[in-house]
Amino acid sequence: MVRVIMLSPPGAGKGTHSKWLAQQTGATHISSGELLRAEAAGGSDLGRQAAAYTARGDLVPDELIFSILVPIVVAAVRDTGGYVLDGFPRTMPQALRAAEIGVELSLTSNAVIYLTAPEEELVSRLLDRAERDGRDDDTLDVIRHRLAVFAAETAPLVDYYRGRGILLELSTDRPEADVQADLQDWLETRELMPPVAGEGQQATG
Ligand code: ADP
Repeated sequence: MVRVIMLSPPGAGKGTHSKWLAQQTGATHISSGELLRAEAAGGSDLGRQAAAYTARGDLVPDELIFSILVPIVVAAVRDTGGYVLDGFPRTMPQALRAAEIGVELSLTSNAVIYLTAPEEELVSRLLDRAERDGRDDDTLDVIRHRLAVFAAETAPLVDYYRGRGILLELSTDRPEADVQADLQDWLETRELMPPVAGEGQQATG
């Protein structure tokens, strides 16, 4: 079963492709950003603390993210055997601690998908999303800051996972169906995803 980390700058499509992958495999989709937004909307102490960081586009402290995520990942592996981690880990300390916890609790990841797109494309997608969803961190200044945070804090994870031999890099500057076909092929080769019914037929989009 797939236990995958989706690594991508804001706007590269990690939400979209994470949901798709979870649907295709039956693994649980776990979005750290959505969990934080739900906590904030619910008005819990944790949610209020988190919102102060997310509104500025800064990362929330590790303690907070681990306290929310660990029980959810444990439950996911118990219930479905797999997970699609959308937005976590996002810093080297998070990745190293996640790897330790993974070994301790037998939840280790077996794939990392790194999604890319040109920076101006990322910005334009996020500004479009702002009009649809009204997320308070989808303003131009905060978007630029989130991209800088990605470059400084999250980009180093790419080489770390590449070195472990479990990374697939995919451009999302093309139709979604093409990205998903590459993702499917790669995971199938690694026996992390069953072949789709009707495979070999032309995709109809
Ligand atoms: P995006 O990737 O578009 O920025 P997310 O929904 O993944 O959107 O994350 C939104 C915000 O939630 C981030 O800017 C950050 O403040 C916070 N966040 C999400 N995941 C983490 C994490 N693993 N560590 C710290 N902060 C996080």
